[in-house]
Amino acid sequence: MSNLPTITAIATASGRGGIGVIRLSGNNAHKIACELSHRKKPFQPRYAHFCRFYQADKTLIDEGLILYFSAPNSFTGEDVIEIQGHGSPILQNLLLARLYELGAKQATAGEFSYRAFNNDKLDLVQAEAIADAIDATSEASALSAIRSLTGEFSELINQLLEKLIHLRLYVEASIDFPDEEDVDFLSDGIIEGKLTDIQQQLTAILATAKQGQLLRDGIHVVIAGRPNAGKSSLLNRLAGQERAIVTDIAGTTRDTLQETIILNGLTLHLTDTAGLRETSDKVEKIGIERAKQAIEQANILLMVHDLQQQESPMKLAKQLFGEQIIDEKQAKRLLIVGNKLDLATENNLESNSDNIINVSCATGEGIEKLIKILCEKVNYQPSENTLIARTRHLDALKRTQNHVNQAYEQLTVFQAGELVAESLRLAQNDLGEITGDFTADDLLGKIFGSFCIGK
Ligand code: GDP
Repeated sequence: MSNLPTITAIATASGRGGIGVIRLSGNNAHKIACELSHRKKPFQPRYAHFCRFYQADKTLIDEGLILYFSAPNSFTGEDVIEIQGHGSPILQNLLLARLYELGAKQATAGEFSYRAFNNDKLDLVQAEAIADAIDATSEASALSAIRSLTGEFSELINQLLEKLIHLRLYVEASIDFPDEEDVDFLSDGIIEGKLTDIQQQLTAILATAKQGQLLRDGIHVVIAGRPNAGKSSLLNRLAGQERAIVTDIAGTTRDTLQETIILNGLTLHLTDTAGLRETSDKVEKIGIERAKQAIEQANILLMVHDLQQQESPMKLAKQLFGEQIIDEKQAKRLLIVGNKLDLATENNLESNSDNIINVSCATGEGIEKLIKILCEKVNYQPSENTLIARTRHLDALKRTQNHVNQAYEQLTVFQAGELVAESLRLAQNDLGEITGDFTADDLLGKIFGSFCIGK
């Protein structure tokens, strides 16, 4: 039995609702629940017990259900009690205060999930998926988080981890006990074949994880254009694709305005800038600094240009996004939207280029194509099978890939068995970080600390 304190927190969202759930986890959870409800008999695991909840002086706080999940068959792997009272913040806080009196400690952010992780009820990917499902901004990302939660992503990682471990053991055993038949294990093709298989599997997982990370984090888009070019109209058109979540973020200056919209499941964090013009106005200078930062960090720079205007879109883009936009690397992020196609005459239509797409926000013409080009530019491929992933996972996968590639080189170029084994060991460590097999405590602290209290 662990000697960790019994923790408690409100598990349901703050605010008023029909039901409010408080969770207790730890050795004393059952005892505390008995005292709270004046119950003499033990609670039967997995049964809903109707109870009244009392103060120390026996006055009534609330009534509702108590559910008991006995260790290890609970979310955290410890004894867990769920108290379902009325969803009143006042009553829930009275209950919580009483639970503290009875010896429960307030849970810290992510502590329930951390205990579940420590007791092997979940791996790290699954714990993160819970947080990602709760925080999801689109249907697609919420559903893919649930798929990761059920263990689909962990399964892919674990299969690969197993292959890595087997191969490492094989290489190490071959070094320690060389074959008497005098067959050189380094050049008989077995290790090379297994390494190639691992490389292929890694490439496939990385592609999946990239899609999952895009789905989770979305992309940053800076939108700019002359007044009246149709920026707002374009946003409305795009937002119409899926129910829009429009968020005016407080604290933005008059020069940048942020909104979030969802396109085919992909979250677009849009920053609307007024462009980078010279100014001596102090407030405007701050705004322009922010605009510059947003432009630097954006995945896509989207410029809306009125096709009725004679000016060159590229010239305008340079003015709005800075001269560097003509660099080859920068230009990949640029997307020029010629708007008001319904009013344009043939001679002011730009020739076809990867970066230019003409649309009419009034009729909707070209919008589908614009969305397609946008998704292609960030390499987003909507799929029902995407599994949510984080930058942390991508980073670990890339490090694993480097070590596996090194192992391959050490084998095929240098025939250095010891180095192959060492690279495989490093690859195993990096891959194990994803599910939490080899994860430093401070990283765990950071991951669980970013969860909310009660999770
Ligand atoms: P913003 O200042 O760049 O945000 O421009 P708005 O979106 O407010 O649009 C300016 C004006 O152009 C509005 O009167 C829109 O109705 C109109 N407008 C926008 N897009 C189109 C279009 O594709 N065709 C036509 N005919 N009018 C448009």
